[in-house]
Amino acid sequence: MPVKLYDTQTRAVKTLAQTSDRPLYFYCCGPTVYGPAHIGNFRTFLIQDLLVRVLKVAGYSVKHVRNITDVDDKTIRQSRAKKQNLQEFTNYWTNKFHNDCKILNLLTPSLEPRAVEHINEMIQLTQKLVEKKFAYQGSDGSVYFSVKSCKEYGKLNRIDQSELKTQNNNSAGSANLADEYGRESISDFALWKSRKEEDGENYWKSPWGEGRPGWHLECSSMIYKSFDGNTIDLHGGGIDLSFPHHENEIAQSESAYGKTLCNHWFHCAHLRVENKKMSKSFKNLYTLDELLDKGYSPTAIRYTLISSSYRQPLNFTFDGLRASQSALTKIERFAKALLNKLGKDTDNFNHDYVKADVIKNHGLLQDAWESLCNNLNTAACLGSIFGLIGSNPISKMDAEESENLLKSIGTILYALGINLFTETTKDSIIPNAILELAKARWDAKQNKDYAKADTLRNKLKSAGWEIKDSSADYEIHPID
Ligand code: AMP
Ligand code: ZN
Repeated sequence: MPVKLYDTQTRAVKTLAQTSDRPLYFYCCGPTVYGPAHIGNFRTFLIQDLLVRVLKVAGYSVKHVRNITDVDDKTIRQSRAKKQNLQEFTNYWTNKFHNDCKILNLLTPSLEPRAVEHINEMIQLTQKLVEKKFAYQGSDGSVYFSVKSCKEYGKLNRIDQSELKTQNNNSAGSANLADEYGRESISDFALWKSRKEEDGENYWKSPWGEGRPGWHLECSSMIYKSFDGNTIDLHGGGIDLSFPHHENEIAQSESAYGKTLCNHWFHCAHLRVENKKMSKSFKNLYTLDELLDKGYSPTAIRYTLISSSYRQPLNFTFDGLRASQSALTKIERFAKALLNKLGKDTDNFNHDYVKADVIKNHGLLQDAWESLCNNLNTAACLGSIFGLIGSNPISKMDAEESENLLKSIGTILYALGINLFTETTKDSIIPNAILELAKARWDAKQNKDYAKADTLRNKLKSAGWEIKDSSADYEIHPID
């Protein structure tokens, strides 16, 4: 089954074509490891994981490379603030990231290059760009990419060439030494940053003196190394990376190596909170740990982050998380009824269907599967699954039909990365009736109907559930 995906560069949905003699080459910009990833970051990583899973189920083989950004402005600043050496500091946060990935059921990428292990490659790439006159050393000792030397600069983000008038200096009169900047300040950007006092011991020797690499350069080097200099099929990241990061990656790689960096650009829209991007700088983020501590299951968190269109911003709410939890309960109940019908217990619900032959037709769930292959339309996929559940089909099915349906639902849930009947979901699933009572109590409290709120709290208590309120939300805990 061909998988189709929107491409940011051509602004069209295109089929991902697999070259016969090698896997599909897929690179993703990985986490910057200076603190816990927030669930906004995980929206992007989960959508990339979803794509890898869909591709596998569809019969593609994939080489998925996701880097670790362990040397940049932020990692250096934070490690110094914590008085730790950079490696020790970033190792800690890399491990934390891996742990979170495991909890959220992300597949391990084929390769996970670390920026700090590729400094030589980065120096070589800078050298190539200087030799070819795409880069120059500035008066501050740093090496900059000359934007005006690159005729195609801006092609990914369709930047009008007239916006590129002040290529050496931006409107503030300087080149971009910072790793991140906005489209309004297009100018030459740093490939190699000369050593500064605030870098502490984090510098390397280079033909341009001591210094460290710029962030954009890191991915160009790691892509070149990981895919042996070949053009890659697909490159992913959050939409904020489209400019300047990916535009700069294209400029560096294509100027140096004279070939297309990537054929297809895959960007995920942002997770927001109250209509603002979830980010460390806005201080409006949630980490996985915070949500787990509130009693939400990893599967419900995963479900929430993947169940709407990845091209649209998603507004994060606790109501949304609770709705996911009850949607999962419905799917679990349905799968259990199918297993019962076949005389199997829940341990028989095998998620590893991908190892079996690719299923050609998913029968009653063919629509659900096709939706996933069509630009990862998870909303339509889940709509089809719930449509089927609502039609109560099990009683009308014979054993063979039930077995096929079980295989299909198992395969599609594998593609979604949703595990049923696992410890994490079983332990933390709160019954629907309790969720509804708790919501009614919260609403009564918000409406200042305290008598009703108290009655509902007592009802919950006698059912074995306790409510803990914070100013903006509430948590439901089982009473031991
Ligand atoms: P970082 O760790 O900041 O390098 O970001 C890791 C990934 O998360 C990148 O692909 C970002 O584009 C993505 N990202 C950052 N914030 C959000 C957000 N609020 N929603 C979705 N993706 C995000
Ligand atoms: Zn990158």
